[in-house]
Amino acid sequence: MEKVILQEKDINRLINELANKIRFNSSFLKRNDHMQVTGTIKNPINIYGVPRGGIPVAYRIAHILKFNIVDTVKEADIIVDDIVSSGRTREEMMKGVEHIEFYSLIDGQCDCNAGKWFVFPWEIGLEGADESATDIPTRLIEFIGEDVTREGLVDTPKRFIKAWKFLTSGYNEDPKEILKTRFTGESKNDNIVQLDDIEFYSICEHHLLPFLGKVSISYIPDGCYLGISKLARLVNCFARRVQIQERLTNQIANTLQKELNPQGVYVECRAQHLCMLARGVQKSGSMLITEARTGVFRESVQHFDTK
Ligand code: ZN
Repeated sequence: MEKVILQEKDINRLINELANKIRFNSSFLKRNDHMQVTGTIKNPINIYGVPRGGIPVAYRIAHILKFNIVDTVKEADIIVDDIVSSGRTREEMMKGVEHIEFYSLIDGQCDCNAGKWFVFPWEIGLEGADESATDIPTRLIEFIGEDVTREGLVDTPKRFIKAWKFLTSGYNEDPKEILKTRFTGESKNDNIVQLDDIEFYSICEHHLLPFLGKVSISYIPDGCYLGISKLARLVNCFARRVQIQERLTNQIANTLQKELNPQGVYVECRAQHLCMLARGVQKSGSMLITEARTGVFRESVQHFDTK
């Protein structure tokens, strides 16, 4: 993710652009213009800012266009937000109120903004630190009813973000790059190279809770070998993301097959999921085992199946 820190001058420009956009596109403004011409009474246009980032936007737009600030979606003619990323906030908010117009300062869904993380001036703390992400764990701690200002929790949001950066650092790694260095020279044979019990820590994408365990990788080379540490790095590259175990297992096997082109790859993954141990069915001993096969390993299974 490319971090884009917006300065006050950027905000001024974006606010003016947005005010113009609303001026030209809003059917509420057109209606009011018409009323002014015909001498009928002008209705004030109500604007609502989506908490938290939409609020400063709403105030500034209201100031420029002489709108009326309202506190609920129900009263609004126009809703504004600072950024629309996934579009989910907008969708949730617009259920049943489709007549309300929705605008955002930045359209996160535009291709030109892909892969960017915007930091707004109102997300910068008193000491100048970027608090655009620490706001998320802070809100979560508040949500469960805890006091974010007590000693043990005061630095937790920062630590949480730091931990999450590490736990998801696999996104910044290129598996192709990891597997780039190979050893050749050994003549083609059918002997298995196997690395057992590679520890990994990953995050289940359904609950955002850890799952952890061990991966074993076997491959039959086709004249090309990897340094063993590369196999462990490959596991980390895919494990340090939000994952499901089945995909993790497949990605390791398929990437190895594609990049090294061995005669076959066999990957077995055994893991325990915190979402199952600590919540839900709470089955402490259970282990999920997944496997993926390519090449000769796949053929041998098919051969076995048809017997
Ligand atoms: Zn889960």
